[in-house]
Amino acid sequence: MQPLFLYNTLTRKKEEFKAIKPPLVGLYVCGPTVYSDVHLGNCRTFISFDMIYRYLIHIGYKVRYVRNITDAGHLEGDRDEGDDKFAKKAKLEQVEPMEIVQKYTVGFHDVMQAFNNMPPSIEPTATGHICEQIEMIKEIIEKGFAYVVDGTVYFDVEKYNKDFSYGQLTNRKLEELLEGTRELSGQDEKHGRLDFALWIKAKPETLMRWPSPWGWGFPGWHIECSAMSSKYLGDVFDIHGGGMDLQATHHTNEIAQSQACNHKAPVNYWMHTNMLTVNGVRMSKSAGNGFLPGELFTGDHPLLEKGYSPMGVRFFMMQTHYHSTLDFSNEALQASEKGFERLMEAHNTLLTLTAASTSTEDIKALQQKCYDAMNDDFNTPVLVAHLFDTVRIINSANDGKLSLTQADIDLLKTIYQNFVFDVMGLKKEKENSKTTAVLDKVVNLVLDIRNKAKVEKNFPLSDEIRNKLTDAGVQIKDTKEGSSWKI
Ligand code: AMP
Ligand code: ZN
Repeated sequence: MQPLFLYNTLTRKKEEFKAIKPPLVGLYVCGPTVYSDVHLGNCRTFISFDMIYRYLIHIGYKVRYVRNITDAGHLEGDRDEGDDKFAKKAKLEQVEPMEIVQKYTVGFHDVMQAFNNMPPSIEPTATGHICEQIEMIKEIIEKGFAYVVDGTVYFDVEKYNKDFSYGQLTNRKLEELLEGTRELSGQDEKHGRLDFALWIKAKPETLMRWPSPWGWGFPGWHIECSAMSSKYLGDVFDIHGGGMDLQATHHTNEIAQSQACNHKAPVNYWMHTNMLTVNGVRMSKSAGNGFLPGELFTGDHPLLEKGYSPMGVRFFMMQTHYHSTLDFSNEALQASEKGFERLMEAHNTLLTLTAASTSTEDIKALQQKCYDAMNDDFNTPVLVAHLFDTVRIINSANDGKLSLTQADIDLLKTIYQNFVFDVMGLKKEKENSKTTAVLDKVVNLVLDIRNKAKVEKNFPLSDEIRNKLTDAGVQIKDTKEGSSWKI
């Protein structure tokens, strides 16, 4: 396996990736909060990690990819104050909170499928892991890093910071972090300004509530990821990811919770995707600038000039490094769609190229450049540039301006399969359905001819057709009712 380098948020360096137990890799990514539809910004993060997951598999790792569903315990703001977002939405729509969860989980899966994201290996929910969260909170209390105030449990950040470094993920000292927070008022239950809730006491009107050693309540948001990642990947695992907006609070608190329990840093490599922006402003639910993927596909949004295909959008995301911001614009998306079409048309041409006896190109070197780009912190924009070199070579070979041997053509097909389809996760769109429809017609036509041959007792011809179709990958089944086929 060639060395793979990735940028580790924790050390602020590009480091060679070393799995704890190769070929196994544990990958945890913070998933969606399912009280509303995911917007395109959320999708950018999930598409980036899908590409990372795909590449790790491609180079030979056996990845256990865990991506959670946050379906409880999400209050307004980082300070765990205000209303539970699920309950608020349920009241608004006059349904059960779990109907909200179901509706938006299904919607999320549909969107992931439209973008051709592979499902994770495990997709645990917060509500399905209340026991694990309670056990972890108990352990944090036992180790002395949390305290209970009237049925609510808080993590003691200042105490933790005496033994460990609280702001290490964002490279900030406790004093700096304290400066950025408001003074506690006399009404605050918390002992320290940075303390955060592990368990929150249910109010009389709280709909989603569970019994606990501290009374009826529900978990804080951060504890679910610590409890579920350690359950499925162990106390120390390889890679933890999410959007950059999660670094300062959610991931910082995850590290604190796990380290308070195990006295060990829970994650070897922290990876963060940068934000999708609109006119320089981060796309978010609260900013109101979040296109829903459905709106993007139909073009039904005032800021959209037209609808865009899911693969055009996916390719748009691949053209920027996951660690850089990506600004949404109609022009950029239209350019990406054109680029995607050129890439797919060149693949069609590649399938029809005839080989020459000599070669003028070094396709092996081109393949290595593709690996070098991906091994350099999953640099998809550089990969795309190399793939456009393959497009140029294919088109020039087709025009007779350069020559490729059969081995070159086969290697180009492998490059396409590996990098375009398997790693970047792109697939042919419109053409797929068109091709399928044409294929249906052609196979049925051939079967009609075979049936006529059988009626005329021309068995050598009917057998020949059957054998040739089998060779081509079309399996025929003859029954009393007639013949059926499948690929
Ligand atoms: P949420 O459902 O808001 O908790 O977000 C789910 C995931 O999407 C998290 O990993 C966030 O960091 C990520 N995310 C949220 N907004 C954006 C954005 N504008 N660009 C990229 N990722 C985002
Ligand atoms: Zn998380």
